[in-house]
Amino acid sequence: MVDERSAGAVLFYAASQEPEYLLLHYTAGHWDFPKGNIEQGESEIEAASREIREETGISDVEFVDGFRHKISYKYRKGRKLVNKEVVLYLAKTKTKEVKLSHEHIGYAWKKYDDAMNQLTFKNAKNLLAAARDFLQKSSA
Ligand code: ATP
Repeated sequence: MVDERSAGAVLFYAASQEPEYLLLHYTAGHWDFPKGNIEQGESEIEAASREIREETGISDVEFVDGFRHKISYKYRKGRKLVNKEVVLYLAKTKTKEVKLSHEHIGYAWKKYDDAMNQLTFKNAKNLLAAARDFLQKSSA
């Protein structure tokens, strides 16, 4: 049973050759992609777009067709064990300026290797690797 469902994106900026990926520093301490709860009546893509806009101020977001990956994890909220599922898309932006909300304590645009080091969780790192592979194949 899934208790929480979130949607988000591996958001990248690609002015030059090498994409830079946007990572957010969560108040709980981890670094991850922009994402958030899917609200009732919202599609995954709508939720991902809204969360990116609310969390970063970025509204020019172009989703890359064909990439949709899911990660699952469990975490403790007080005495309750929460089963969580996060669906991540891949999206491109031309905006570099980030306006953080109160939900995060920092952000960073990072090239692939640095993003890999900065991401906290293994499943997020695997997802970034899949996103890069997808981009390399689709732009070949
Ligand atoms: P959302 O951005 O979806 O609204 P949130 O900010 O409420 O989420 P999460 O980012 O899901 O919360 O973090 C909740 C807890 O789960 C934290 O304790 C965090 O350490 C842990 N967590 C977050 N991402 C992962 C992950 N990919 N794998 C394992 N644990 C994770």
